[in-house]
Amino acid sequence: MSEPSAKLVIRNIGLMLSGKIEAPILDADCLIAVDGKIAAFGKERDLDTEGATTVVDAHGVTLAPGLIDSHIHPVVGDYTPRQQQLHWIDSTLNGGVTTLISAGEVHMPGRPKDIVGLKAMAIAAQRWYENFRPSGVKVHAGAPVIEHGMEEQDFKDLAEAGVTLLGEVGLGTVKDGKTAQQMVGWARKYGIQSTIHTGGPSIPGSGLIDADMVLETGTDVVGHINGGHSALPDDQIICLCENCVKGLEIVHNGNERAALLTVNTARELGKLDQVILGTDGPAGSGVQPLGILRMVAMLSSLGHVPAEIAFCFGTGNTARQRELDTGLIDVGYCADFVLMDQAQHAPGKTILESVELGNLPGVGMTIIDGKITSQRSRNTPPAGRLPQIIEP
Ligand SMILES: [Zn+2]
Repeated sequence: MSEPSAKLVIRNIGLMLSGKIEAPILDADCLIAVDGKIAAFGKERDLDTEGATTVVDAHGVTLAPGLIDSHIHPVVGDYTPRQQQLHWIDSTLNGGVTTLISAGEVHMPGRPKDIVGLKAMAIAAQRWYENFRPSGVKVHAGAPVIEHGMEEQDFKDLAEAGVTLLGEVGLGTVKDGKTAQQMVGWARKYGIQSTIHTGGPSIPGSGLIDADMVLETGTDVVGHINGGHSALPDDQIICLCENCVKGLEIVHNGNERAALLTVNTARELGKLDQVILGTDGPAGSGVQPLGILRMVAMLSSLGHVPAEIAFCFGTGNTARQRELDTGLIDVGYCADFVLMDQAQHAPGKTILESVELGNLPGVGMTIIDGKITSQRSRNTPPAGRLPQIIEP
């Protein structure tokens, strides 16, 4: 006997955003997910909506892939010692974010820096977030910070134990490009993705990473190209945009002027597909439950980016750079969504225009793996219209 399948039907969708920068708006009003994966989308009259186990009437709101935060610093469960705060991930889900990617569990009190200890913690962190999803949110964690003395075998061990990410290069003792490049190369050989701290020191005890070190190291993502918080001089940011062929990550916990410089430079270079978003939270500046939405609205309004493209920075672009099975509306991808509408009394004729005027949308629902994980957001401005669960 096989389990009966779970079939989710979302109908009356007013606007469907694809997450694909080359075609960000879909001609569709209905989406069907089976067993947590997108099975079909398009016009409801052309789809097989029979046999649904859950039906959502979107009441004309917008459906987008669940937002992805490319840069967080989790520690354990839904608690951060950095700001002594509980339930920051649940708050982030209320900001439309369904996937979080660790840039290192660096706020763990007593974080081990010896090699066997840092490997053990990375493997444990990968496991505890794989085994426990706070409020349903997918947390990709277990991102060790490289330290002097690591050898190729260490990266092989980590990969075999399930580690897929490195924490920010530069937060440990390795602060020279030559060593970092060698270790990032070993990581890549075993399928581990890498990122780097770009810019000035974030808090007492961390250091400067300039464009030369970023380029020499050659990580998969240029972590917070707009600084975290202190940004590099403009000429170095432009140099990184010109020379990097992978993710150019802009974070909320960074310099907003440098964020706009990055987007403007990337646009001139035809590289907007490389722009991805993170918060860098929890950090010295706190946690940012609406951080990704705020970056979308900021870059759209001040950077003159069409809102549907700005949403790609926080969804499909990140999914592609990070090789995730979420963040894009396509058959076979995870049924991870945010349903949102123009906020009440926000200026603009449509949700997209209101975002282009710098306003946040109101989140009405999130869905992860085809299951409803939150309804009307307690954190965003109230949405004009709300989706509704209908008994099938
Ligand atoms: Zn950093």
